[in-house]
Amino acid sequence: MTTHLSRDHWEKLLAGLTLEGRHFIDGEFQPSVSGETFTRIRPMDGRPGGTLSRGNAADVDAAVASARAAFASGVWRHKEPGEKKKIMLTWAELIRAHGEELAMLETIDVGKPVMASLHVDVRLCADGIQYYGEMIDKMYDEIAPTGPKARALVRKVPLGVIGAITPWNYPMIIDAWKLGPAIAAGNSVVLKPAEQSSLSALRLAALGHEAGLPAGVLNVVTGYGEETGKPLALHMDVDMIAFTGSTEVGKLIMGYAAQSNVKRVALELGGKSPLVVFADADLDAAASAAAWGCFYNSGETCHASTRLLVQRSVQDELIARIRDVTEREIALRHPLDPSAQIGALIEEAHMEKVLSMIAAGEREGARRAFGAERVLSETGGYYVSPGVFVDMTNDMNLARQEIFGPVLAAIPFDTEEEALAIANDTIYGLAGAVFTRDMDRAHRFSEGLHAGTVWINTYDMSTFATPFGGFKQSGFGRDRSVHAIDKYCDYKTIWQQFG
Ligand code: NAD
Repeated sequence: MTTHLSRDHWEKLLAGLTLEGRHFIDGEFQPSVSGETFTRIRPMDGRPGGTLSRGNAADVDAAVASARAAFASGVWRHKEPGEKKKIMLTWAELIRAHGEELAMLETIDVGKPVMASLHVDVRLCADGIQYYGEMIDKMYDEIAPTGPKARALVRKVPLGVIGAITPWNYPMIIDAWKLGPAIAAGNSVVLKPAEQSSLSALRLAALGHEAGLPAGVLNVVTGYGEETGKPLALHMDVDMIAFTGSTEVGKLIMGYAAQSNVKRVALELGGKSPLVVFADADLDAAASAAAWGCFYNSGETCHASTRLLVQRSVQDELIARIRDVTEREIALRHPLDPSAQIGALIEEAHMEKVLSMIAAGEREGARRAFGAERVLSETGGYYVSPGVFVDMTNDMNLARQEIFGPVLAAIPFDTEEEALAIANDTIYGLAGAVFTRDMDRAHRFSEGLHAGTVWINTYDMSTFATPFGGFKQSGFGRDRSVHAIDKYCDYKTIWQQFG
């Protein structure tokens, strides 16, 4: 471990940081029209973090007006593709150059280990902006097949003003999933980050501006969901809402779109993803995937493998190996400790909710194998240890509800048909995995699993080249990959007749 990455290094960085919490509108930081603010409490130690502008409809109006003006002027969308690409690549480089600062902002807000913020969140954010920047001069339009007397151009045009509403669990990564394709396609964006995690979004916007994004192309308005997100989603001059968050709020977003201007909506919502282990599987690989798949980011992951479906004859053996992996590898420590693999939950109220769901699960008959307790309370922060419940049935609450904490529900099964029925018996369809050495079964099972992503003998592999999103109440529309661009565009057909 180098001194550079020591706890002392991160403590000094934290002590020296000035936190910017004002909205970023029209290329500059601005306070709320009302002058109101709110204070974010740091999950790592329960102490005050940043002071943020408390946005309302007036701030949203100002941001949308700036975004619309930038779009209407063509200052961004009509720029030469090569120039736009250069700006986005510079933006990605600036994100990397400010990596430690951004990682600290993410850790202040979210409570995840600062090393994870640096090596996962900052890296993937920069990679995402780069990926879509590189696409800008590689996108072609189409000419439709017509007779020789006519020509029909099928143009893919940007929608206009995109409202992006994002959650707190991977703020920078998810912001990049929206900003990259939306801006690369030529749109302007108003981003409303979660009230728990706005600091990195504000810094990202300032870095984008420094890289050369014209004023108004990217605005950030901070505040609460009802006060800031709702007026954005109801706004008559917003063309689309790209939302990631809970299924409950996703349904509200659809309603707001219908009540206002029939704006387009893309929804990345919740999950309760099954990881299915057959008795013939490599149990070490399955145990590692199950532990990391469920407990990484303290379980605050939409596609976390929270339901472990395990063939009855290997349940005890698999749980013992999961416990071993968890204790050996997944160190729960203070987020500034460079050896921490997981850190705090997002806030006190969320920790209380997770603990009360665990207690209710036990009253319902869930049997605790290990963990799932409040720990490190002496820090003042909000920590729950990774835990497993066994001998569950799929109708129990711990197996049905999205807990968003480090809690794994193990459900035994006997046959393949039963496993598939249990795996699909959920309102969600975000992701899933199957572990078996029988490749025929692996592919049969993958086809049968109703989920946006299925992994075989692994979990959570991803690249920017693969689409990500859900079936059923996990939402619709895809982030990542070349396909993500489509949802920020519309097709326009231009006919010409000859002779
Ligand atoms: P949330 O739905 O409470 O909030 C998400 C965003 O919506 C926040 O910015 C919030 O301020 C805003 N919001 C809340 N009420 C609103 C309203 N009435 N109108 C407009 N905006 C409103 O979700 P969360 O607690 O921040 O995040 C956790 C949820 O996000 C989980 O359900 C998780 O599964 C989901 N998630 C999904 C994905 C995915 O890609 N599918 C990724 C990450 C998180």
